Amino acid sequence: MTPGTSSYRGRLAPSPTGYLHLGHARTFWVAQERARAAGGTLVLRNEDLDAMRFKLEFVDAMLEDLKWFGFEWQEGPDCGGSFGPYSQSERRDVYVAALEKLRTGGFIYPCTCSRKDIAAAARAPHAADDDEPIYPGTCRQNRKSEIVNRKFAWRFRVPDGETISFVDGNFGLQQFVAGKDFGDFVVWRHDYVPAYQLSVAVDDAAMQITEVVRGADLLKSTARQLLLYRALGFKPPRFFHCPLMTDEAGVRLAKRHDALSLRTLKAKDASPESLRLNW
Ligand code: GLU
Repeated sequence: MTPGTSSYRGRLAPSPTGYLHLGHARTFWVAQERARAAGGTLVLRNEDLDAMRFKLEFVDAMLEDLKWFGFEWQEGPDCGGSFGPYSQSERRDVYVAALEKLRTGGFIYPCTCSRKDIAAAARAPHAADDDEPIYPGTCRQNRKSEIVNRKFAWRFRVPDGETISFVDGNFGLQQFVAGKDFGDFVVWRHDYVPAYQLSVAVDDAAMQITEVVRGADLLKSTARQLLLYRALGFKPPRFFHCPLMTDEAGVRLAKRHDALSLRTLKAKDASPESLRLNW
């Protein structure tokens, strides 16, 4: 179907922290196919907030590699659109406004804990299927005086014991218990950078994305983001999670898998069509 003929809005949201690999391409391809089938609009958003880890050369490479592979988006940092800017580094005011809303609504609290403090005090060990240990709640009762002259992050207070459910377009019903499957999470880092959970939820809402297609490693993050949608009064999109690609040894592909980066494959004259037939 012709893009832009329906209200479906999907997105590709790569982080330019390294070269894109075949695993990213496979998930993005699903996103593109779903947008196409619906006659929708596909948005490219450059998730470049992590200034410590991303480099400008990766932004250019990302656009080049996506185009080489056959991706076509209708809105993005290179072509504009009505929901821009499309690079997160240029959207700080949108995140500040959301943070303020969370703060005045009493949903977040300042947290002075370091990673080390949290690892030492965590209630549960690092869950194997997730990215962070469950925060033990040390700073939940922080008073203003405790953060004066100290660096702090803003953390979202999860409703302990509540089951967060959603029906995933691919995996069906998903349920996670707040405080058990994941704990209070950071929405604003102590280095003044908006955290992933906040920026992605705020942008998907602001860009009126109707379906988020992403990797299955983010299922639990989707539950966290649903709490943010609720707190901010946003209508959540639909979600469709894709299985992750692994290498021959069963290890999940990461940016360090250089052999499967789109850059390397292009240099070896691989054809995107045959790569798509074989994944
Ligand atoms: N920039 C994030 C990543 O590359 C986006 C994930 C998502 O929410 O789709 O992991």
